[in-house]
Amino acid sequence: MEDYPRTLADLETRFSSDAACRAYLHQLRWPDGFRCPKCEHRKAWPVGPRLWQCAACGRQTSVTAGTIFQDTRTPLATWFRAIWWVTSQKTGASAAGLQQVLGFGRYQTAWAWLHKLRRAMVRPGRDRLTGHVEIDETYWGAGEDGVRGRKLVNRTLIAIAVESVGARGLGRIRMRQIPNASANSLQAFIDDAVEPGSVVTTDGWTGYDRVSKRGYEHRVTWLEGDPQSPAALLPRVHRVAALLKRWLLGTHQGAVSFEHLDYYLDEFTFRFNRRTSRHRGKLFYRLVQQAVAIDPVPYKDLVGGKPQDVGGTLVK
Ligand SMILES: [Zn+2]
Repeated sequence: MEDYPRTLADLETRFSSDAACRAYLHQLRWPDGFRCPKCEHRKAWPVGPRLWQCAACGRQTSVTAGTIFQDTRTPLATWFRAIWWVTSQKTGASAAGLQQVLGFGRYQTAWAWLHKLRRAMVRPGRDRLTGHVEIDETYWGAGEDGVRGRKLVNRTLIAIAVESVGARGLGRIRMRQIPNASANSLQAFIDDAVEPGSVVTTDGWTGYDRVSKRGYEHRVTWLEGDPQSPAALLPRVHRVAALLKRWLLGTHQGAVSFEHLDYYLDEFTFRFNRRTSRHRGKLFYRLVQQAVAIDPVPYKDLVGGKPQDVGGTLVK
């Protein structure tokens, strides 16, 4: 049973105190009851208002330890309001907007909060895409209308995978920056993003030569000098790419550096994959749940590290 606030007023009434926020985090982090992060023992007693001491090994822990809320000096109620705001904006949140809503003195504080929250938007060990999946790459950077900034004299390459549903429908998506369009880069993305056994449709680029060897059913669509645009060949990927670029240019005015682009891609993916949720509160629930999920793998290993030279020579 997913328990989440329905409205902003509901949120503010329910999560006005630190104790109420902690109780909610407790329920999401340990849905089956406390579990010691050191020895997995299930019995613990409270030590003061925030700490739990494991009955077996004596380890003291709090519900925020090891999560994005660890060591925060800001009241959890403020974090909850930030999460509500981020998840209730249909088009996403900008740092300037968050700064205004929470009344932060410094833009940098709001920016750092948004980046912390974006990191929670990727669920550790999340499911891969299945069924029929379209895959292609798109460029971001120089040449986009409205993109500004010193770093954007170059372009970066983004791999996009989209589940197809029915004749024209879009399912879930995955996307990330890749250093180039080589088979090494593209296949690593596909292995992470798509469940083997799925049907993968791509264009005829040689970077996709290993797809069938890796356990996918590979379907290739060919241009063959056809005057059709690539958008007609892989229509779902191109629709998603257009929506992504509109969002980057709109909500963020194109002011996204390559260094941080993957986090924005994570946010776009988080929102897109939940676009049909009727209750925005469900996104709040999911983001808080992921924010307290304890991840034994450092985040940078999860996303496979950042491309070393995203502005460099592109192979394709
Ligand atoms: Zn223990």
